[in-house]
Amino acid sequence: MPSTPSAPRRIRAAVLREPGRPLAIEELDLGAPREGEVEVRIAASGVCGSDLHQILGEYRLPLPCVPGHEGAGVVERIGPGVSGIVPGDHVVLLWRSPCGHCSYCLAGRPALCPHAAEVRRHGAMPDGTSRLRAGGQTVHHFLGVSCWAEYAVVPAAAVVRVPAELPLEYAALVGCAVVTGIGAAWNAAALRPGQSVVVFGCGGVGLNILQGAALAGAHPIVAVDSQADKEALTTIFGATHFVDGRRADVVEAVRALTDGGADAAFEAVGLPALMETALAATRPAARWCWWGWRPRRRWRASTRRRWCSTRRRFAAAFTARRSRHATSPACCNSSLRGGCVWGNWWAGAGR
Ligand SMILES: [Zn+2]
Ligand SMILES: [Zn+2]
Repeated sequence: MPSTPSAPRRIRAAVLREPGRPLAIEELDLGAPREGEVEVRIAASGVCGSDLHQILGEYRLPLPCVPGHEGAGVVERIGPGVSGIVPGDHVVLLWRSPCGHCSYCLAGRPALCPHAAEVRRHGAMPDGTSRLRAGGQTVHHFLGVSCWAEYAVVPAAAVVRVPAELPLEYAALVGCAVVTGIGAAWNAAALRPGQSVVVFGCGGVGLNILQGAALAGAHPIVAVDSQADKEALTTIFGATHFVDGRRADVVEAVRALTDGGADAAFEAVGLPALMETALAATRPAARWCWWGWRPRRRWRASTRRRWCSTRRRFAAAFTARRSRHATSPACCNSSLRGGCVWGNWWAGAGR
């Protein structure tokens, strides 16, 4: 087991070589962290829809690659020039790590950092090279994280230190689902107390929008999902009402619960038709939020009219919108104080 700062490490990882093909557990060489990089021993990793998009070939990001972008672990080694992180730190991994010095980063909009987009597009570290090799072959990083592996080397900007008492299997979810959902509620929609909210789709992100809305004091908070047995879970995460998404009159049901339409509607599945349904469930001047992977779509005329002529505003929520480095610790600290529904869930019913 090599431990010198410059030695590569032999690891096992799930490798995707062709779209639509099963992943295989392979032995790879993981290069030591270079300037501004950190090596993390992975303790837990989530499975997100974005991994599936890559596996199915819908993202078309470089292959072969090691998927996984929602993880947490313990810092093992740090490269030169890394400050504020030391071996032994418990960290959450963040995809789309900002460079910290471009005009967008300096303007407080790191989610728009073009250098972070390059990391994603090239399947490499910020210096353009990969730390992953299979024999003589380069294996690409996925979203700068690649945590379906025993260890990962990531940019230092891609780790956020979290309290050691936070279980890492729950901390991992902060890396994508928690921070995306709560960030959508807090940052993209900027929810205020008393605003009405509807969330279409109550998976990992949707549940965390619900709790973000609850923490922001929104009311009522309507959860819509086609799986009626999710109702109890949505209640734990802050929903005040549940609507079965299979109902033909789902828009009317939401309007009835929100006095004519919600102040903010979130679509958390990635289906264009459902995005239009979400918009139809809003009132004029509402916020309309969706993200995730979106196939090309010509919007219906009624959608364009509703969107453009009634001061409804689209609020892109592709990431936590503002800094994940700010939103992630806030989520963790809120969780540990018991103020975060997600925290109550892992402390009680979810464990
Ligand atoms: Zn994700
Ligand atoms: Zn930047």
